[in-house]
Amino acid sequence: MTKNIKTFEFKISGMTCEHCATSIDNNLQVNGIKKSSVSYTHENATVQFDENLISQETIKNKINEVGDYGVEDVKYINIDSSDRQKHLIIIGGGSAAFAATIQAKEYGTRVTMINEGLPIGGTCVNVGCVPSKNLIRVAESLYKANNNQFDGIQSTAKVENFKTIINEKNSLVLNLRKQKYINIITDMEDFELIEGRATIESETSVKVNERIIEGSHILIATGASPMIPDIQGLSEIDYLTNEEAFALDKLPKSLIILGGSYISLEIAQMFSRLGSKVTVLQRSNQILSSQQNDIANELRNYLKSEGLQIVTGNNIQSVLKKDGNIIVRSIVNSESKEFIAEKIIVATGRKANTKNMNLESFNIGIKNNSGVVVNKYLSTNVPTIYAAGDVLGSNMFVYTAAYEGKLAVDNAFGSVKKEANYKILPWVIFTDPQVAGIGLDEAEAGRHGIDYEVAKLPLSYVPRSIAAKDTRGFIKLLRNKEDDTLIGARILAPEGSELLMEVAICIKFGIKVKDLKDILHPYLTLSEGIKLAAITFDKNIEELSCCAT
Ligand SMILES: Cc1cc2nc3c(=O)[nH]c(=O)nc-3n(C[C@H](O)[C@H](O)[C@H](O)COP(=O)(O)OP(=O)(O)OC[C@H]3O[C@@H](n4cnc5c(N)ncnc54)[C@H](O)[C@@H]3O)c2cc1C
Repeated sequence: MTKNIKTFEFKISGMTCEHCATSIDNNLQVNGIKKSSVSYTHENATVQFDENLISQETIKNKINEVGDYGVEDVKYINIDSSDRQKHLIIIGGGSAAFAATIQAKEYGTRVTMINEGLPIGGTCVNVGCVPSKNLIRVAESLYKANNNQFDGIQSTAKVENFKTIINEKNSLVLNLRKQKYINIITDMEDFELIEGRATIESETSVKVNERIIEGSHILIATGASPMIPDIQGLSEIDYLTNEEAFALDKLPKSLIILGGSYISLEIAQMFSRLGSKVTVLQRSNQILSSQQNDIANELRNYLKSEGLQIVTGNNIQSVLKKDGNIIVRSIVNSESKEFIAEKIIVATGRKANTKNMNLESFNIGIKNNSGVVVNKYLSTNVPTIYAAGDVLGSNMFVYTAAYEGKLAVDNAFGSVKKEANYKILPWVIFTDPQVAGIGLDEAEAGRHGIDYEVAKLPLSYVPRSIAAKDTRGFIKLLRNKEDDTLIGARILAPEGSELLMEVAICIKFGIKVKDLKDILHPYLTLSEGIKLAAITFDKNIEELSCCAT
């Protein structure tokens, strides 16, 4: 039986919030419906379905049966466009590009990927997530061996061969690059990889290595690069960024790290634990300047207790190299200071790669000089040109890059357009203790005018942490007082990232704090901490017995 794919728009009355749209969409997840998108703001549902399997009338009934909603009008949009000549040209070869490629194959689309700069796979596998998380684990093993908490055990460890550590990291990178990137495109039909720097030539074509490639759509997925601050003398010395720091031959005896955000702090603690004397210089008065000061101050204290020097409030004047050392001159609280180290790493932020692609000729907007401007469907002002990943200049994580790459392709080639949705966006800083967050914090909840309440549970109340003799950190939950739903969490805890997704699910599905408290949580687990924190919204934690309810 041949498929008979149709797309209709159903105008719906009676939706009062996003939750209504989600409820209707959930009810449309039935056999025959290929795609659906329900919008509260547009008061409609766009549904792509196979007429052989489900009728327009049944879909209408499925919408009407959910609540007090009513389909008022039904409009035919278009026929499936699978027979159109489709060719996606992707500029960039990182995670956004690969997610887009895989999704494009679902639409039978020809793909040309053009990459230059970093090796194929881009930032995450080569110079970002993978090498950093591997070396952070290495450093943690060493630190734990030297800082055993338990009586009756004596252990010490040292870096015997730094080069071997780097070689093992290199093998991991090579393996994952092959497994997760190169193997995916090897022998892929209707796919071409071109090494070269691409510029946009027309609304549907790019130029690379003097060759013009014609397509139907273009995806800009060129990622981001380290932002290098304009400091006198910096460009004249051999500073490092994340692109070189994980590939050093020798462990530096001492290290200055510019920046006090997540990349800087992860790298700082890692090198400090491996044995470098590390100084972090941050411009703002607080590390993690976008976070509340309880998280920033507590993390700062833990890092300092491990021997890191952290100096905030820097107004750096100049950087120079003298007798083989790097000297940084700074004004801190109106006092002139000089910091000296063997190496310097610049980790002061990331800047979207938007230069030299000829975007200006097509009036493709760049936000605050960084990040391609797109609409909620990830299309630029040129309808055939989309952008995804770090090049958007915000939410620079590998999972958002992949999400956006896939979504851009769905919107370019599918008949149902979907809005990018960042409502549930968990994030992690891989220091030890880790910092993990989702949803709103106190300042953001205040700005949204939400009547919120905070429950903050130090890990010294979590049996798992007590038994492990590691009670660093806290779990902080925020709830909306009006309806008892969670609206955010900030966790500072060893392996705290593993706790985040329980909160994410609660927020996504509107699970109330009273229901979260009722879920049995195994004793002794760290996740029990989430339940205990939820209980402390209404009870004094001091008065609870073991396995509190
Ligand atoms: C140190 C560090 C640690 C990180 N850790 C994590 C983590 O733990 N978890 C997490 O989720 N995220 C992490 N990230 C972020 C994550 O790596 C990025 O969000 C993600 O890799 C972005 O993917 P992308 O496809 O947008 O860009 P990229 O992966 O950067 O790919 C872009 C590619 O396009 C190429 N390119 C640029 N311009 C052109 C051009 N004109 N023509 C052709 N090619 C071009 C680039 O060289 C690159 O190969 C980390 C980042 C860093 C720097």
